[in-house]
Amino acid sequence: MPALPEYKTRVLLENHGVPLVPAVFHNVMPEILPEPVVFLKAQIPGATSRAGRGLVRKASTTEEISNGLAELLAEENCQGVLAAQAVDIKKEYYAACLLDFGDGENLPGGVILFSPDGGTGIEGRTDSLLKIHFSLLNPPSGNDIEKELEGIPNSPELADFLQKMTSTFIGYKLTVLETNPIAVLEDGSHIAVDCRAEFEKHAVSKKHAELFKVPESTVDDSTPLEKIVETINAMDPAGTGFFRASREKVPVGTIAVATNLCGGGGKMLWEMTTGGRNDIFSLNESDTSGGLSGFKSYRILRAIMSQPEAQVLILTGSGMAFQNQYHLASAVWKALRESATPLPCLLRFGGTDQEKAMELMNTVAETLQVQIKTFRPEIFPNAMVEHLSDIATDRRIKQEFSPEAGEVAFEIDTPPARFVYHPEKNPDNIEPLCINECPTGFLQWNNNRITSNPEAKCIGCLVCETVSLLRGNGELTIELDLPGEVL
Ligand code: SF4
Repeated sequence: MPALPEYKTRVLLENHGVPLVPAVFHNVMPEILPEPVVFLKAQIPGATSRAGRGLVRKASTTEEISNGLAELLAEENCQGVLAAQAVDIKKEYYAACLLDFGDGENLPGGVILFSPDGGTGIEGRTDSLLKIHFSLLNPPSGNDIEKELEGIPNSPELADFLQKMTSTFIGYKLTVLETNPIAVLEDGSHIAVDCRAEFEKHAVSKKHAELFKVPESTVDDSTPLEKIVETINAMDPAGTGFFRASREKVPVGTIAVATNLCGGGGKMLWEMTTGGRNDIFSLNESDTSGGLSGFKSYRILRAIMSQPEAQVLILTGSGMAFQNQYHLASAVWKALRESATPLPCLLRFGGTDQEKAMELMNTVAETLQVQIKTFRPEIFPNAMVEHLSDIATDRRIKQEFSPEAGEVAFEIDTPPARFVYHPEKNPDNIEPLCINECPTGFLQWNNNRITSNPEAKCIGCLVCETVSLLRGNGELTIELDLPGEVL
């Protein structure tokens, strides 16, 4: 999902009456410098961990302001610098609005995440987050929110603030809107000190197109892996498959983590986890969501795992994924079997069939060349990362994989795949178990051969191959070509 820099997110919040810390945006060096004391914040779309990277600086003198502005304006992809007035803060809160795909208790809609503690280090307090689910069609009033905040000081003012945030989130069809911190000032007022938003490009209305426009780079600086992912998306456009490699070198002493983050919720939880830490380095940004197939998940995972510096892979979503988690686990298992250099993994499954996903990965764990750990959705990434150093590797395992020869039963274009039958594994010519497990009825057994049903559709879930390998005799395998060299 594209991210809006803070100066643009402020415009959205301001339009819905959310009070903000006074700030001025400069896209060139101003003739009259701001009055000290200010915080200078480089405005780079999608930039995370800004403070740790020196992209946010406190400037207490005119000289510091002048030097800070000059340096930050020269940063790569910097659209300008926000000079935000320093304020005396009595108390800090954290709040975010996210899209919520629903679970056994809640229908799909939105969710407000609120913590009575804001500021840096929110990643360590995810267990204390209050969640307020809401309908996008019938959003909560200030009174509704206030009831949920019972016992929290300043709840009427906070409820008013959160209601305006929710209205911004819905009004602009955002996928993520975060303010951290919401500051309480000496006079009791509540203001947003820092904020960020993410949006789905296709959801932006013509009326708001200008607000969401991000200047396009005229230079194509895509890496070979990014180009591979672009081609995967062109081959199989259903669902989001986003990958962008970090342009920075892995800092010494950090664990280099390849990430497969599923949706805005997964991305946000990961940013909350790593935002205040300098011992974890994310090699890439990623987003696999929007109902992509297991075939596509496999291909994107192979690209993500192919990053040569990676020491470990982390896969997590919001914990309430729309994508069937058993299909996702089948893709992970396939990628770990077929990669030339598989990565140790921390895998968090949450959503439909999460138990089956966990069971699958736990069943096959012993057969893999790398260590994996699985996590339930109740375990947040901030707890998962405590296992990083246990399984991260300095030396990638090398394994050989070449697809077993067989008879190509048929090929499909959407999503692209080749289905291979291995008759020698079925000497009695009985219908393989996997046929009956196909959720759409696409697979058929006719005249002692695997065939496809022209009336049905393959959704690329990988269930047939998983069942064939785990519970059958390996009668059916699926070959998924990759559009370039990956490890
Ligand atoms: S043939 Fe059926 S089980 Fe196999 S990937 Fe396609 S939909 Fe899934």
